[in-house]
Amino acid sequence: MKFAGLVKQSLVDYPGEVTAVLFTRGCNIRCPFCQNTHLLLRSPRVSEPVLTMEEVVEFLEERHGFLDAVTVTGGEPTLYEELPAALAVFKELGYLVKLDTNGTNPTMLQQLIERGSLDYVAMDIKAPLDYRKYLRSCGKLTTEEFFNVRSSIRLLMEAPIKVEFRTTVVPVLHPPEEIEEIARYIQGASLYSLQQFNPSATLDTDYGAVVPYTRQEMQELADRCAPYVPTIRVVNI
Ligand code: SF4
Repeated sequence: MKFAGLVKQSLVDYPGEVTAVLFTRGCNIRCPFCQNTHLLLRSPRVSEPVLTMEEVVEFLEERHGFLDAVTVTGGEPTLYEELPAALAVFKELGYLVKLDTNGTNPTMLQQLIERGSLDYVAMDIKAPLDYRKYLRSCGKLTTEEFFNVRSSIRLLMEAPIKVEFRTTVVPVLHPPEEIEEIARYIQGASLYSLQQFNPSATLDTDYGAVVPYTRQEMQELADRCAPYVPTIRVVNI
């Protein structure tokens, strides 16, 4: 397995733990507000770095005692058939493992949970669980992928690991009542994060002109969600 990048140490990507963050290249959807546009295509340009699994393992072996966890993010990591084997190696090295996903591959998610390869999953929920709305937030999405997202939510609601659902909140895509609708859909989940949209460097340049919700408005969204999920985390830019 190859990775597109590495943050050697992060205090914010795995709550309560010090984590390395590995980026994978390639994504099956095209959220217009995406900030990781350099990671959307699977093939790197000549100038872009590629980290081999051997290099990553060597780094993790050196950092024993300094790092608690490995977070794998993208792009969309579950596009890689080699991901389960890579996560198993990270577990064997003694690390907690977190996966960030858009939820379109519930088959791999289930396999990873059953094998004990995951301690934490953070899954994006892009919109209320209505195909038309979800498609608008994803830019492109097959109906199969949409039903896969629903399956991943159901799977994670029952999973014996830490789970975070999260939404990047974009005012033109997410009126307050739709954020509340998402929270109602995941009623019973333990954590829902509302991440403030950042208009700098978006995939669809029109989104550069979209004004994010204010901190006050983000807090009001959190208050609307509070009856459904016990912990609502607001991540402001
Ligand atoms: S799921 Fe959306 S936001 Fe995440 S990498 Fe893919 S296009 Fe970007």
